[in-house]
Amino acid sequence: IGHGLPDHDSLVARDARHVLHPWADLSTLGTQESLIIAEAHGIEVADSAGRTYLDAIGGMWCVTVGYGHPELVEAMAAQARKMAYFTPFGDVSSEPAARLAAMLADLTPGDLNRVQFTTGGSTAVESAVRIAHYYFASRGQAAKRHVLSRVNAYHGGTYLTASLSGKSADRTLFQYESDWVHHLESPGYDPDTSPVSAAERLDGLVAGMERAIAGIGAENIACFVAEPILASGGVLVPPPGYHEATLELCRRNDILYVSDEVVTGFGRLGHFFTSEAKFGVVPDMIVTAKGLTSGYQPLGAVIVSDRIAESLAANADRDKPVFSNGFTYSGHPVACATAVANIEVMRRDDVCGHVLDVGPYFIRRLRELRSSSIVAAVRGDHLMACVECHVPGEDGPTARNQALARRVDAYCEEAGLLVRPYENLCIMSPPLIITRGEVDRIVDIMADSLARAE
Ligand code: PLP
Repeated sequence: IGHGLPDHDSLVARDARHVLHPWADLSTLGTQESLIIAEAHGIEVADSAGRTYLDAIGGMWCVTVGYGHPELVEAMAAQARKMAYFTPFGDVSSEPAARLAAMLADLTPGDLNRVQFTTGGSTAVESAVRIAHYYFASRGQAAKRHVLSRVNAYHGGTYLTASLSGKSADRTLFQYESDWVHHLESPGYDPDTSPVSAAERLDGLVAGMERAIAGIGAENIACFVAEPILASGGVLVPPPGYHEATLELCRRNDILYVSDEVVTGFGRLGHFFTSEAKFGVVPDMIVTAKGLTSGYQPLGAVIVSDRIAESLAANADRDKPVFSNGFTYSGHPVACATAVANIEVMRRDDVCGHVLDVGPYFIRRLRELRSSSIVAAVRGDHLMACVECHVPGEDGPTARNQALARRVDAYCEEAGLLVRPYENLCIMSPPLIITRGEVDRIVDIMADSLARAE
């Protein structure tokens, strides 16, 4: 890779003139000089000018088995040749969707055996909330429609999922839903910087959730939607026991527990799904996307317990028993075939086992960066991590701290490393096939970039 494209300059110009990028800085609209990624292989990508980079972002938390994997590419091509698309609506399905649904039922814990496919993470979270609403309404409890989320959560870019998201910086100008969406306290706990013990922090979080439930009334709450570790909100790891305690509160109050494993699933923390394997909880629904296809195709899924699915069927409106939720590209055959191949590759190559080995090394090496005066914290778990930058003595995402993180990010890019800047954080979620040598390269470049920015 690294050949570049002959029309590099004109592509950059066309992009600047015509593309409205997702999550883009509007102050540079029309003048942005976008990085046009033209090729990718393994854990490296190359831009249209021919420069190569080590991708420590994993595309966008999603490229897990690396770029250009021949088996995934072949699965996509074979399915496209055989049957590229047909409607998934009603009682029509496809071979890859049926195969993948059974595989997901096998990979998820408890009685989570029923899969509704979507087109990505946002549509999967939104579908989970709609399932929760339908579940209660069909049981004669239509008032149970409020949703609990958390400050700093990220659940997507549709209106509802953006309403669930709780990152203050993203909450400008749009009119988010606030009548029935509630944000509990952000649950991160960092033993390096917290003034209280993990047990005290947990007690505070649980008491806050109990108060919120009492205030809203359990009879009005449908579900609690939670990422096991908050990803885009700043890689925030809750204190031990948080997941069990929140699940217990949900059970006691007949609130459905929706685990958003869009980032934490598919190996990033060393398990296909972390809810039970790592945190000891069996939710009512698990949402997945991103790593499901290793990012090769857009696909999401919400995996629902038999208990809920059976209730939907048993209590559906007699005259109109249609669950009216789904998308033209729900469970797209090419995307599902890619996911089937991805799971087969991950199982055969024991990708999760590799993450359990290399993940702690990644975090240990990154934590060495705390010796830099401009590093406020290093947080993470296995292959999701972030370095928080600050001007010494100044805390939080202030303008100066954000500018500092952007400088570090720019120096990394100059040195051939892509990390994801967000506020005053440099976020990292490399492909899961990363080696210890590549981890060392990331840490070396980060260390040099931090030293330059100091
Ligand atoms: N949930 C989580 C935890 C995410 O991180 C994201 C995306 O980053 C989403 C949901 C939304 O997924 P998508 O962008 O595929 O719609």
